[in-house]
Amino acid sequence: MARTTGSVCRLCRREGMKLFLKGTRCDTPKCAFERRDSVPGMHMRRGKLTDYGVHLREKQKVKHYYGVLERQFRTYFARAERGKGNTGESLMSLLERRLDNIVHRVGFAASRAAARQMVLHGHITVNGRRVDVPSYLVKAGDLIRVKNRTKSLQLVHTTLTSSRREVPDFLSRSEAGVPEVRVDRLPAADDVSIPVQANLIIELCSK
Ligand code: SF4
Repeated sequence: MARTTGSVCRLCRREGMKLFLKGTRCDTPKCAFERRDSVPGMHMRRGKLTDYGVHLREKQKVKHYYGVLERQFRTYFARAERGKGNTGESLMSLLERRLDNIVHRVGFAASRAAARQMVLHGHITVNGRRVDVPSYLVKAGDLIRVKNRTKSLQLVHTTLTSSRREVPDFLSRSEAGVPEVRVDRLPAADDVSIPVQANLIIELCSK
């Protein structure tokens, strides 16, 4: 699957905001965006965007943040559109429900990319069964646990001790013994971890 192979810090500079793609480094003075927030590329300036550009940048920002490619993003959009509620809120809720996002947000992995790797390598179980699909959508009541084996536990304990991440309201984390997290309810608009104007994305995708 095509992924960003160059410096991910360029994506933050392109979107004009910190997307926290590099884990612990993002919270240090080494953050590339803190040092240079110009658009990447020679002779590039942050000019005035067209209306289409504003809509596009909002979508690209969200895709980079959650590590989702266009095709999959369109699938989320179609699913959100079919739902009963507000399409923008449903779309963001679907993205927040991704297993790699949950693993990152509760502090088991330093970044979404690391969380994705952790899921792919079988370090995570959902309701007692190994799930190695980063895009798996969690449901209310799901119990997400780190696999009870030395390598998995070491990996998570190291991350948990190095960065004390605040757990979002819709999740509850337990660190006694094997670290686990319970999904108390589905994420709502307030639980979304990135400032986003979802209506712009919906307008763009609906054309
Ligand atoms: Fe973005 Fe993190 Fe790189 Fe800073 S260190 S530019 S937040 S990916």
